[in-house]
Amino acid sequence: MTLRPASAVDIDIVRDRSVTITFDDDVVAVYPVKALRAGCPCASCRGWRERGEVAWPRPGMSDEVSIGHAELTGAWGLSIDWSDGHSTGIYAWSVLRDWWDRGLMGELVTDPTPGPSLDDPR
Ligand SMILES: [Zn+2]
Repeated sequence: MTLRPASAVDIDIVRDRSVTITFDDDVVAVYPVKALRAGCPCASCRGWRERGEVAWPRPGMSDEVSIGHAELTGAWGLSIDWSDGHSTGIYAWSVLRDWWDRGLMGELVTDPTPGPSLDDPR
């Protein structure tokens, strides 16, 4: 799978609710924080999903989460520190855009078992 390049021109973060990204072709995408957390692209969360398990919330974890801190990772993505201490995932613009284009964000909120198709193929 090849993801087309994407870049963000504007990012609006509501810590306990959503991240809104305006892409360079004027598409505005809204990502609920729980969907982002469930779709975390880090190696350990990917590992859970590859085993067919829910990456978040794990058993015993709260299903409430918010963004503690977020910052740009170079020009290609967003790094998020979550309120639950998780901070290893980097959300590449191209991956976020692919999730949006495929309409996956709403599904993630109700059924956080996205499967490997959500993962960055690199
Ligand atoms: Zn993760």
